[in-house]
Amino acid sequence: MPGFHRRRVEERWMELALRGDVTAEELRALTPQGAPTFDIVNQMIENAVGVFSLPLGLGLNLTVNGRDHLVPMVVEEPSVVAAVSFAAKLVREAGGFTADADASMMIGQVQLTRYGKPEVARSRVLAGREQILTLANSFHPALEQRGGGARDVQVRILPAPEGPHGEPVFVVHLLVDTQEAMGANLINTMAEGIAPLIEQLTGGRVFARILSNLADQRLARASCRIPLEALADFGLPGEDIAEGILQTSRFAEADPYRAATHNKGVMNGIDAVAIATGQDWRAIEAGAHAYACRHGRYGPLSRWTLEQGHLVGRIELPLALGLVGGPIKIHPGAQLGLKLLHVDNVRQLAMVFAAVGLAQNFAAVRALGSVGIQKGHMALHARCVAVTAGARGVDVERVALLLVERGNVKVDTAREILASFQEVPAP
Ligand code: NDP
Repeated sequence: MPGFHRRRVEERWMELALRGDVTAEELRALTPQGAPTFDIVNQMIENAVGVFSLPLGLGLNLTVNGRDHLVPMVVEEPSVVAAVSFAAKLVREAGGFTADADASMMIGQVQLTRYGKPEVARSRVLAGREQILTLANSFHPALEQRGGGARDVQVRILPAPEGPHGEPVFVVHLLVDTQEAMGANLINTMAEGIAPLIEQLTGGRVFARILSNLADQRLARASCRIPLEALADFGLPGEDIAEGILQTSRFAEADPYRAATHNKGVMNGIDAVAIATGQDWRAIEAGAHAYACRHGRYGPLSRWTLEQGHLVGRIELPLALGLVGGPIKIHPGAQLGLKLLHVDNVRQLAMVFAAVGLAQNFAAVRALGSVGIQKGHMALHARCVAVTAGARGVDVERVALLLVERGNVKVDTAREILASFQEVPAP
């Protein structure tokens, strides 16, 4: 959609409607008047007093496994949407992202205490595996009919946090294929439902039973290959930009202080599309950061290497997403977001999320390893500063341009520039 960012908002709507992505009726949900009614938000949370709006933008140019996706993104931070669209365009010209995702296997946890000998309790739980699975599935028979349901029972015995004299922490994992749902509610029902049986089998006492947000049986992966010559920019050859990206990637692998910021960039993209499609982004965040620590030290979710004259990026992270459940069928914006994204099933949704995370990361490491991120970021940030200083309409762009030109993107400077406009009227 060339030139989309230069069009007026009404022209953007028209383009979406002409392409058949959404109807005029649905577009109304994008306006403040189309925001969820108070009745809807009052059903969603407690003590509701209003509706809080955030900008919704479209990430463009994303091709995943040969299929094009418009990416709805809800985010308050300037440059996120532009960064995804820019990176996705470069990758698209190089053949697009390749991605895959696991089945929707989630983990329910049941903590058993006062169980006596750990090995005896373990063998009793495992001997009752079929009984536990049958009971778990009885709480969600429709899920089994859809091809999902409880699939396995595992036992983990972990060192007591108090030291060798404490009772080892005994955890039963119930593995459940949640199909097209994120699965938190349905797993919690199953975990609570099987607890009395586990107590009966072992003679122990169950306290906590809930899903785990470390959804490491439900990973999504995306990768891209960009020829070095396509990376040339800022007057620098592609090899130079690639080296900056490689060094920045190594930096994140070696240093958790950098890895945290590296992953924040990844999540800039993933959270934005998660909010726009009604996902539980706290669950996604928790899973992503826990997974980033899986080797015992916090590390980057994505990595960049050089392979046969190409820059290759790879990302892998847990993505517990849903096309049903939660607020998805209630919130009109989430329904519209999913429609724009154009996915057939939840695994495809996870692949798009992974590609968005990698695209966002590419834009960040490319800028970081070359001219720095402030150059691009400040141009967009300057508009917010101009608005904060009181600029409106055409003045926003005029003030923003002057702020960047002066290299001083501050509210006080914006106020001075604005005051100078009032002395000299706009041409
Ligand atoms: P819901 O319970 O809202 O919806 C899932 C239900 O959708 C299923 O139980 C199933 O019910 C129905 N369904 C219809 N079609 C399908 C299909 N094709 N595949 C699977 N299910 C289908 O949501 P979830 O269980 O997904 O839970 C997600 C919500 O839980 C989110 O809102 C999240 O914020 C919240 N949550 C998160 C927690 C966490 O992350 N720690 C903790 C607690 C809650 P049926 O079989 O009866 O038709």
